[in-house]
Amino acid sequence: MIGVNHRPRDDPDNHCVIELEIDGRRVQATAGGLLIDAAASAGIAIPSLCHHRELRPTANCRLCMVEIEGWRVEAPACSTRVEAGMRVRTESPRIAESRRAALELLLTRYHDPLWGRHTRPENEFEYWCRHYGVRVPQSVFEPGDSAPDADPHPLMRVDLERCILCTRCVRACKELQVRSVWGLAGRGEHTRLAAGLGGTMLEARCESCGACAAFCPTGALEDRGAEAAGAPDTLVTTVCPYCGVGCSYDLGVKAGRVVRVLSNPYAPVNGMHLCVKGRYGWDFVHHAERLTQPRVRRELLEARARGPHEARGEWVGVDWDTALALVAEKLETVRRQSGPDAIALLASAKCTNEENYLIQKLARQVIGTHNVDHCARLCHASTVAGLLLALGSGAMSNTMADIAAEARAILVIGSNTTEQHPVFGSMLRRAAERGTQIVVADPRRIELCEFATLHLRQRPGTDIALVNGLLQLIFANGWEDRAFIAARTEGVDALRTLVARYTPARVAEITGVAAAELAAAAALLARERPMAVLWAMGITQHTTGVSNVLALANLQLALGNFGMPGAGVNPLRGQNNVQGACDMGGLPNVFPGYQPVSDAAARERFVSAWALSDDGPAIGVRPGLTVTEMIGAAGAGTLRALMIVGENPALTDPDLNHVRRSLGAAEFVVLQEILPSATAAFADVLLPAAAWAEKDGTFTNTERRVQRVRQAVEPPGEARPDWAIVADLATRLLERQGRTPRGPRAGWHYASPADVLDEIAALTPSYAGIDVHRLERGETLHWPVPAKDHPGTPILHRERFSRGKGAFHAVEHADAAELPDAQYPLLLTTGRVLEHWHGGEMTRRSAVGALCPEPEVEIHPSDARAIGLADSDAAALRLVSRRGVLHARAWITDRVPEGVVFGNFHFPDDGNVNNLTLTAVDPVAKIPEYKVCAVRAEPATA
Ligand code: SF4
Repeated sequence: MIGVNHRPRDDPDNHCVIELEIDGRRVQATAGGLLIDAAASAGIAIPSLCHHRELRPTANCRLCMVEIEGWRVEAPACSTRVEAGMRVRTESPRIAESRRAALELLLTRYHDPLWGRHTRPENEFEYWCRHYGVRVPQSVFEPGDSAPDADPHPLMRVDLERCILCTRCVRACKELQVRSVWGLAGRGEHTRLAAGLGGTMLEARCESCGACAAFCPTGALEDRGAEAAGAPDTLVTTVCPYCGVGCSYDLGVKAGRVVRVLSNPYAPVNGMHLCVKGRYGWDFVHHAERLTQPRVRRELLEARARGPHEARGEWVGVDWDTALALVAEKLETVRRQSGPDAIALLASAKCTNEENYLIQKLARQVIGTHNVDHCARLCHASTVAGLLLALGSGAMSNTMADIAAEARAILVIGSNTTEQHPVFGSMLRRAAERGTQIVVADPRRIELCEFATLHLRQRPGTDIALVNGLLQLIFANGWEDRAFIAARTEGVDALRTLVARYTPARVAEITGVAAAELAAAAALLARERPMAVLWAMGITQHTTGVSNVLALANLQLALGNFGMPGAGVNPLRGQNNVQGACDMGGLPNVFPGYQPVSDAAARERFVSAWALSDDGPAIGVRPGLTVTEMIGAAGAGTLRALMIVGENPALTDPDLNHVRRSLGAAEFVVLQEILPSATAAFADVLLPAAAWAEKDGTFTNTERRVQRVRQAVEPPGEARPDWAIVADLATRLLERQGRTPRGPRAGWHYASPADVLDEIAALTPSYAGIDVHRLERGETLHWPVPAKDHPGTPILHRERFSRGKGAFHAVEHADAAELPDAQYPLLLTTGRVLEHWHGGEMTRRSAVGALCPEPEVEIHPSDARAIGLADSDAAALRLVSRRGVLHARAWITDRVPEGVVFGNFHFPDDGNVNNLTLTAVDPVAKIPEYKVCAVRAEPATA
């Protein structure tokens, strides 16, 4: 194989610890560390307005000057490195005087009529001025020359009169977000903070992560409305409700309402950093449309039957007892008349682990069906199936931190990481700036391409050919890791024979990637080790989804990229708790912890734990229905009742006209939700649930890290946490069935989610060592955690794969189910945008929605010209497929290649791209092919 180039790295273990004295106290610190950080870790706060431990030091505010014995002059603690034996004084009359002078100097050009008012939270600058008794000149209270709201950004307010040029915002934007929205313009006393070349923040490509405002010590940059809301009464640390990165932060609560999100510098995944949705997308929690009372259709209350295609009648608000009694009666009637498999449940990747565990327990123990699934079916079902076949474990093998820090190369394929997992995307940008080689394989020129060494622009649906082509070159050149293959894998010969047919010329014909580009990528990925592969739905949402995943596993097995930091197979999970919902058995073929329902020992474990042998239903051997099968069965009348918890099939499933017809025909639909989603139109009963900020529990992020979710505010009206609703319903159903299952894990009386977590630990080997006490102590727990004294497993497959040897699978390219033709000449691929989330029910009801207020379709300039579309971003476009129509604003851009259009699914009605997508699925994982279908484009006025 070609040479492995081991770049020297900082090794924290090699840093020796030294001892120094600060303010008479003996302090231990890492040699070479900054004095200000050493003091902080000993609980000694040295004032600073320009320093932050996540940013590079600049030493420009001069507030952190300290005295060091033997030094002739005072030294800035933010840029002075600790030395053994140093004796430091952080406070003295002379230091205080120098700090007063520095603060007074900053105040000379500072204007803030609200200075010192208690109507807003005190900022850092005000605090230090008060602390050192600085005399505030009258000029501060007078308005300055520039407007106090100098930028039209909808989420942040800019008041340059309060800027002290500390440049924290400039560094935060450049160093964390790896953008340079903010910079300094002018010279001398005319130096000013400026966005881009003097335009607005959004014109300067601001991604609205809010890092600039989070680091600003004066409120010159601040979240809109945060000062008016005043200082929060309490801060509650919890986890973001959006993507699988799993950032944590503090919810600021005042008078029982969330008033803002604040960065928590000790957040384990993200530190101070958040993305636009995490920092500004919280306000839907208090939206006027929150569901606050159970609702039932009038005809149900009046016991009138509705015809199969008859529209549902008006809603009537009822109490919980009425609603749940009705649901229990209906479900039990269906169960008795048609059997348990006439009922299905959708669990939720937005719910906690505890809630998902209970939903599948309700399905299996109480109703007696494996018909339980959730949106993982629509995003990573092929990942789970493919990686189980290849490695024996369907999860991400490494952590985001070790990939960003240790990978020498990263293949990002089918993942628009900077928009879909933005905080991790920024970590990748930073890695690229440090020299990590990134190869992006994506039909679209996604933003990460700016940071990539190579961009392979394969046609949508040709990933297997692309990866087989890389493997052909790797084997042909002898670049594979033969020792790894011999020791830890099986089946390489069949793969070697198959990929020999994927010559660069043939691969170029299938994928559109030139032979030279393929060769450059193969050489880079083989040379730079460790190399990590990342993917998301660009790989999984295909009729060949499982084979796509197997191809990527082949690549990493051939290169021996397993069991070490910076390597591995790394599917980036979408929704915040989609990993946990899978772990908890919210899938039709596995119990919690991926114990197959077909496995006799696993079935026996749950039969015993849930006391099913006494009087419960038999647990079936065959898996239940998947999401897409449930929708079809509801339309066909074979599935009579559907209980949906926190999912929105009426916007997120493929071929929405088919979904609408099926849900419309369904006999009985229960929807448990926080907002009246598009699916509510098809529900017979609406149960109001608590949002993430209103309940306790745990989420598991994309890297298998289990984290604590904490209640910050009360649910609105009569809304209840999902776990409590499910437990109440289960109890009522058991009563109707005359069952009282006995045993420590058979009943439904939980005092809190912590009790449920204990039950999960008892029945789920990979969660066995996890409990709420360990999480509260701040332990980092990546599953598997097989025992209470086990530290967790950040990196999988170190010595062996979960299935023993890693299995190569020879997988062939196959065409997508529907390709463009004369009638529908464009290829549609779909996905999300930075500012919105899934069906958009939360983000459209949040301030972040203002950044992307309408559906948008990316179309190449030549395709736009071909249909006579004006060369303007305001042009209205209609896309038509064999299944439906989409209306959207056209974004005419060469981000998409010629012949390809891209749309999102964040908007309702005729603005949703799923009106066009098709229901063809991967035969193994049953995941739909969202990424390829054929459409026709027309100007909307035609
Ligand atoms: Fe939330 Fe994901 Fe953004 Fe982090 S990156 S703040 S988890 S949406």
